[in-house]
Amino acid sequence: MAAKAIDDCMVAVADRLRRAQHVCCLIGAGISAESGIPTFRGPDGFWAGRSAFDLATPEAFARDPETVWRFCLWRRSQLVTKRPNAGHHALVAIERLVPQFTLVTQNVDGLHRAAGSANILELHGNLMVDRCTACALETQAATDGGFETIPICPECRAMMRPGVVWFGEMLSLDAIQKADAAARSCQAMLVVGTSSVVHPAAGLAEMARLHGAFTVEINPEETPLSRIMNMCIRMPAGEALPAIVEAMNSSDRG
Ligand SMILES: [Zn+2]
Repeated sequence: MAAKAIDDCMVAVADRLRRAQHVCCLIGAGISAESGIPTFRGPDGFWAGRSAFDLATPEAFARDPETVWRFCLWRRSQLVTKRPNAGHHALVAIERLVPQFTLVTQNVDGLHRAAGSANILELHGNLMVDRCTACALETQAATDGGFETIPICPECRAMMRPGVVWFGEMLSLDAIQKADAAARSCQAMLVVGTSSVVHPAAGLAEMARLHGAFTVEINPEETPLSRIMNMCIRMPAGEALPAIVEAMNSSDRG
């Protein structure tokens, strides 16, 4: 794309966002990849050769919670050096520039929280959270040190589990319902770094379109969602989102 065309594109998106009462952003693994976090398709490195179904399912946890916990701590250890990138920070800026903002993320790395986003729906949970298997109390995970014992709930003494959605588990009903409501009520939706054709990404984007929202895809590659979008920006999130924020701020002054 020529520079002029990119500028026009950013101004058009910025204009839509500024006029929206409610902006909804649907975020996938692409933005995390830009922070150096690999897409989790299955165990690698130390855990290579083990099936994800032995390490990240309710059945595995029931059978062998210690191994599941060790795998979780290994994944956490991969995250501790990772930082939010320009895309995460731009999403925080957009949230502060619009009256209502809902960030729906499929990522479990907690980088949106680290960047400072406030209204976040984590559809697949958060790897950096421990959750009680009995009373559902959530605590922020300690990131120092290796495995000693399985964490115990400070309230009810039951076993804690990683706060992510495992393979074969339902997504949080509360998060799904809130994401659905946001998709119905928003006037603009940004779909960033996700190519998912399965629920909920495609469903939420289609829902937003059906209810009249202006939909924008930000992804370096064409995806199955591209055809239902009003506009597609073929750039990484870390470049496109800051440019949109800049255009929003310029139109504010102009
Ligand atoms: Zn508990």
